Amino acid sequence: MYCPSCSSRELRVLDSRPYFELNQVKRRRQCCHCEYRFTTTEVIESGMPKVIKRSGALAEFNAEKIRSGVMRAIDKRPLTLGQLDAVIEKILQRINKMQVKHLRSEQVGYMIIEELKELDLVAMIRFASVYHAFQDAESFKVFIDEILANKQICEPVDEE
Ligand SMILES: [Zn+2]
Repeated sequence: MYCPSCSSRELRVLDSRPYFELNQVKRRRQCCHCEYRFTTTEVIESGMPKVIKRSGALAEFNAEKIRSGVMRAIDKRPLTLGQLDAVIEKILQRINKMQVKHLRSEQVGYMIIEELKELDLVAMIRFASVYHAFQDAESFKVFIDEILANKQICEPVDEE
């Protein structure tokens, strides 16, 4: 990428803003050479898989759903919107990298749990409890213990 003003390639990013509904990221950039500022829009090419819901139905991948789920989990936690966006972007990148056509909704859930674990344990436990709808306290405890024991819970398998 080149500076539109002086064609220098030395650019820095001042600010990134994801627009999940549009699959876009807008970045404010500044030329290190002439200080010219401009905005770029990156469109995330949707290599996103379809999601297999628990009912077995196929659904379009919806980043906004992930975001609202995570947002509920971090409600009143001492986290910034920037941290929220970073987590969502990480999850989207992980899913994108898997290069699969289908993903079970549980796998998406586990991935969110894994990322939240790094960010905020309380938010992670909240998300897990809503997401899994555990039948009893014991199975919830077993699940949390496994996560805390650092087990990989999300295996990227493409079921076809
Ligand atoms: Zn320039």
